[in-house]
Amino acid sequence: MSGPASRKLVELSGDGLARALSADSVVVLPTGAIEYHGPHLPLVTDYLIADSVANASVAAAAAAGQDVWILPTLAYTKSDEHHWAPGTMWISWDTLMQTVVELGNSIAATPAKKLVFFNGHGGNLALLQVASRELRRRFGLQTFLMGATVPPGDHDGPEELGLGIHAGHSETSLVLHLRPDLVDLSVAERSVPEHLADFEHIGFRKRVSFGWLSNDFGTNGTLGDPTGATAAYGARLFDRSVEDAVAAFAEIARFDAAGGASA
Ligand SMILES: [Zn+2]
Repeated sequence: MSGPASRKLVELSGDGLARALSADSVVVLPTGAIEYHGPHLPLVTDYLIADSVANASVAAAAAAGQDVWILPTLAYTKSDEHHWAPGTMWISWDTLMQTVVELGNSIAATPAKKLVFFNGHGGNLALLQVASRELRRRFGLQTFLMGATVPPGDHDGPEELGLGIHAGHSETSLVLHLRPDLVDLSVAERSVPEHLADFEHIGFRKRVSFGWLSNDFGTNGTLGDPTGATAAYGARLFDRSVEDAVAAFAEIARFDAAGGASA
């Protein structure tokens, strides 16, 4: 494909966009958050991770010949679970829903028909699942939702009891890799509500979920243990996430829910 090397969609002219995109093009919208991440991490943590992994993944996919494009990262999203904490900049679920639905309307007006939410903030997950179906039904887009990173899995840091979901080992390691100047490990502290591990049925990844705010747990408002975080682990998680995203984009490009039956 000729044209500019950049795969930043908004660096095209409108006419260039009309020429460059087709129904097979994959458009990636990273979603971040600006929210409290404990005393040791910056407010921009989720934005930084989503933006960095998404841009690296799209660049790598483009270098491999894929027809993938990236939109500017959405900074302000649904962080109401951290509303009480200083520096959290959040919008309500209905404002975010309206925002992504209207963005989808604009994307549907381009030749591209495949949209990928590349999400760096867990609090957006349920909403983006609903939005994915709204955009499918209302505008005929093929929509996809993927995490900004692969599931961290086993790591060599302190045990987090499956509760390391916010400002813990993996996020702290990723920011140590991406922007070590923004991390202050000297004030990092373990913040794991260990009493939750006593509940067999109720939990973050169990059969029974529950509505929560991040100041419900009697801890410092983060969930995890950042004290053993390392830039080396962050680099490995980053690289695995980029490699996996490139493979995922290739599947998205050829994905057809009807298996070709509706052509
Ligand atoms: Zn985060």
